[in-house]
Amino acid sequence: MSKLGLVFDNRYLHHSISRPSSENPDRVRSLYLRLQQNGNKSFQRIQPREASSDEISMAHSPFYVEQLREHAVKPDPYSYDRDTYLMEDSLPTARLAAGGCFCLADQIMAGELDYGFALVRPPGHHATGGRGMGFCIFNNIALTAEYLRTRHGLSRILILDFDIHHANGTQEIFYDTKEVLVCSIHQKGLFPFTGFPEETGSEAGQGYTINIPVHPQFGDPEYTYLLGRVLQGVVEQYLPQFILVSAGFDAHVDDSISGTLLSTGWYGQITHILRRHAADSCADRLLYVMEGGYNPRALEDSVLSTIDAMVQKDFTRPGIFPASRAEKILQGHPMHRYWAL
Ligand SMILES: [Zn+2]
Repeated sequence: MSKLGLVFDNRYLHHSISRPSSENPDRVRSLYLRLQQNGNKSFQRIQPREASSDEISMAHSPFYVEQLREHAVKPDPYSYDRDTYLMEDSLPTARLAAGGCFCLADQIMAGELDYGFALVRPPGHHATGGRGMGFCIFNNIALTAEYLRTRHGLSRILILDFDIHHANGTQEIFYDTKEVLVCSIHQKGLFPFTGFPEETGSEAGQGYTINIPVHPQFGDPEYTYLLGRVLQGVVEQYLPQFILVSAGFDAHVDDSISGTLLSTGWYGQITHILRRHAADSCADRLLYVMEGGYNPRALEDSVLSTIDAMVQKDFTRPGIFPASRAEKILQGHPMHRYWAL
């Protein structure tokens, strides 16, 4: 059985606001309980720590960090936008989210774990270097990539983001470097309304940003085909030293925030594909960081499907989704005439 480390902690429930928000502690409450009760202990539970201000500054401007610190001591909630709030416990919770990812990254680099899954909140992939947005305060995955660059000396890190929303913050932070390749698959026309195929990076990072906008109504076969095709080329040519995954579960068919149709089982399938790539390119180093997912039941089942796929002894090697079959699916798809990669 592979060695899987999970980070989850009841302190991640402390970031909360009294008014209704789809990003709330109830997203993960039942999932945490289920993992705590897990009898067969197929994973190792890893204790998180808070990221320091120096570590947060690896991806965020000192001005932004200072601004957060000032607002955190004020009695009233502070909102960056309609979705992104900052309450009394938000700052330590956000630090704990980033720090939890670092703990897993360290253990994977030390060979103590094969895979990691940071079941943290608040999510991070919309946060840019200078501001929070879209439920995100610190960009957990970007900070983890920076941590791997600076603390572990890596220079080719692949970030795959399959959350239904574009990874605008992660893209912005790494837009002009080739040391982190950011690949985002997301639904067209949703918040934050960026992530066009033409956005491919700049300067030394030209070609190291890949955006795959998809139409609503896309489901398992289309996703598997597109990601299979893109990842095969990326992994062969880029040879990542570490694969990070911004794992959002809001493209699930039962998540009302999106129109896409991914099944619970798809999250297991993509995990098998990513395990194969991690085995081929980077000694199994694979770390998932949770992003969105707003139907708690779908989120819980999809996370468990992912964990199952991570711990199965003999993972299947599904290879590329057969092109002939996929072409047929895409051609026969009602949205095909709009489709262009
Ligand atoms: Zn999302």
